[in-house]
Amino acid sequence: MKKITQALLFLLIVPFLTSCDSMVESQIKKNMKKRQEQQAALLSSEKIQVFLLGSGGPMPNETRDTTAFAVIAGGEFIMVDVGPGIVKNMNLLNLPAGKISALFLTHFHSDHISDMGELDFMTWAQGRDKKLDVYGPKGVKQVVDGYNMAYGLDAGYRTAHHTEEWMPSKNSGMVTHTLNITDPAEAVLFFDRNGLKAWVFIVDHSPIDPAVGYRFEYRGNVVVISGDTVKTPTLSKFARNADLFFCEALHKEMVMTISRVAKEMNNPLLSRQMRDVTDYHMTPVEAAEVAREAGVKKLVLVHVVPPIESYFAKRMYLAGTNDVFDGEIILGEDMSTFELDPK
Ligand SMILES: [Zn+2]
Ligand SMILES: [Zn+2]
Repeated sequence: MKKITQALLFLLIVPFLTSCDSMVESQIKKNMKKRQEQQAALLSSEKIQVFLLGSGGPMPNETRDTTAFAVIAGGEFIMVDVGPGIVKNMNLLNLPAGKISALFLTHFHSDHISDMGELDFMTWAQGRDKKLDVYGPKGVKQVVDGYNMAYGLDAGYRTAHHTEEWMPSKNSGMVTHTLNITDPAEAVLFFDRNGLKAWVFIVDHSPIDPAVGYRFEYRGNVVVISGDTVKTPTLSKFARNADLFFCEALHKEMVMTISRVAKEMNNPLLSRQMRDVTDYHMTPVEAAEVAREAGVKKLVLVHVVPPIESYFAKRMYLAGTNDVFDGEIILGEDMSTFELDPK
C-alpha cells in the first residue's frame, strides 16, 4: 500500500515540478530579454539621458547614496564619480555596464571614488572589451594604480576560472587619463565622440586641489555637473545656459545644529567634523544664485547634506531658493532619470 501511495505521489509531483521548471525558465528568458532590450534602447536613443545614481554626501543614509551620475548619449555611457553603493544602483537601473565608455572623477574624496574597484570588475564581467578609461584631475593616477593593485588578485582568479577566452586579462583593470587645466578661467574640451562632448573645469573645494566639474553637450543640450565646490566667480560661466544643472548644496544651519548638538552630547569629534564640512560646500541659496547668473533652465540640487528625508526638512532645505531663481528647482533623489530630446 505504501508503495502504491509513493508511486501515485511521484506521478503527481513530477509533472508539477516539470511545469515549475519551465515556468522558471520562461521567467528568466523574459527578464533577460527585457534587460537586453532596455540596454539597447538606452544606447540607441536620440536623447541625452542622465541618471542620478546617488544624491547624498559621505554619511550613510537609508535613502541617499553618495552623489554620482550616469550620462548616456550617442551610444556613449559615462559614469561621473562612483562612491559607496553606486555600482549596485547602476546594476539595479540596468544600465549597459559592459558598454561603459569611461569614468570621470571630480576629486578623490572617498564618497566619490570608493566603488571604483567594483565598477572595474562589474563592467569587465559584463563584457567590457578594453580596460576602463578613467579621467580625472592630477592625482588620478595614484588612485587608479591603487585600485589596480588591490583588485589585481581578483582579476587573476576570474581569468583563471573562466579562461582567457571569456574573461581576458587584457581588458581588466583601469587606465589613467590625467586632465591638465592650465587656465582655471577656461573649461577644457577633452572628450568628443559620437556627438557627445565633455569639458572639464576647475572648482574650489579647498584644501582638495584640484577639484573639477564637467560640462556635457549633445545635440544642442547642455548638462553641467558642479562637483564639490564653494560658489566661485567662474562657476556660472561654466554652467552658462545649461538645460540641466546639477549643483551641490549643503544646508549650513542644519549642519551647524548637528555640530552643536554633538558637542552637547559629548561627541566632540563629530561636532568638529560637522563644523569643518560647512566651509567647502555651497548652500542651496548659493546654488540658486549660480543657476540664475548662468541662465540655466533646470537646477537639480545634489550632494544633499544633511541627508534629509521628511517633508518639513526638505522645505527647510529649499527655503529661499525660489526667491533668487525663477526656473525649475528639483531636490535630487536617488535613481531619478532626466531625458532631453535633441534640439
Ligand atoms: Zn563629496
Ligand atoms: Zn568632496
